[in-house]
Amino acid sequence: MLFCHADGKSLSILLEPLGKFQNWFGLKMNHAKSNIFFGGISKEDIDKLRDIAKIDEGKLPIRYLGVPLVSIELSIDDCQPLIEKILGSELNYNKTKVAWDVVCLPKDKGGLVIMRSSDWNKAAILRHLWNLANKDKYSIWVEWTYKVLLKGKNVWEIDIPNDCSWCWRDILKLRDVARKHIRVDIGNGENCSLWFESWHHLGPIARRWPASNSQALLELKNSVLNPPRGGEDKVILGNGVHGTFSIKKAWDTTRRRNSKVDWYNIVWYHHHIPKHAILVWVAILGIIQDATCRLCNSATESLDHLFFSCSFTNEIWSRLMRRCSLNPAQGD
Ligand SMILES: [Zn+2]
Repeated sequence: MLFCHADGKSLSILLEPLGKFQNWFGLKMNHAKSNIFFGGISKEDIDKLRDIAKIDEGKLPIRYLGVPLVSIELSIDDCQPLIEKILGSELNYNKTKVAWDVVCLPKDKGGLVIMRSSDWNKAAILRHLWNLANKDKYSIWVEWTYKVLLKGKNVWEIDIPNDCSWCWRDILKLRDVARKHIRVDIGNGENCSLWFESWHHLGPIARRWPASNSQALLELKNSVLNPPRGGEDKVILGNGVHGTFSIKKAWDTTRRRNSKVDWYNIVWYHHHIPKHAILVWVAILGIIQDATCRLCNSATESLDHLFFSCSFTNEIWSRLMRRCSLNPAQGD
């Protein structure tokens, strides 16, 4: 944003360097995308200044992509122009080039490391199951849930009630995911359910009782016979050691995994140019399949064609040689 006094002289002084900048660097201000705002002057003066600037008068509040730039909370109506732009543009679902699952992967796994909101939501809900598994005695919500919703039963044990709230249903539905990632390191065993909690690498034994005479059953028997380590039972998230819960850690533990791609350094090297990196990323994923030269549209793009045999390139070479007063060598 540039500011100046609302008079012709000040406006000319303001615009002059923009003209010089254009002459030096070739970067021209886009008048169609610029607006001028006035305050405290007459309509007549506004018309004069608008003629000097040759820029349309803007209306407050200033908008970016149709959304007002204001400090107060935005309403749905405020965001509607942006929503319509997204739904009506090339970004719409039918024209998606790369699956969202791939885009959300880390860069070294082939994606663009965009965080999927549903994964983050899952991690946030996991916090409630973590608190319930911890039986946090300082949490009023945990105490209330055990008394009112669970009625003293274990959270891993109950069925989802038909008449429960949507948020309690969502928490209970996530238990299948949580069972894989939340386990208990037995201390004195007072706070852990032998049947329903994951204290053994097999998972909750109520859901997966080993076959008779199997090695797993023998292991289970030995782990029960071993005396507990003493102290409080500790709840563990993922493969980490017990400690505090964080949504970031839960997200990292539960998100989709993929194997590392061998082209990571070709695309995302230290000084990569973002625009070029995205193009190479898209090409590697096989989205760009048309190899026709975009300069002449008449041959397949190759290194030789792009630098030497393309008619467009030829023209550049010829002009360059003329400027340097050079003659092409015989046969070139
Ligand atoms: Zn060409």
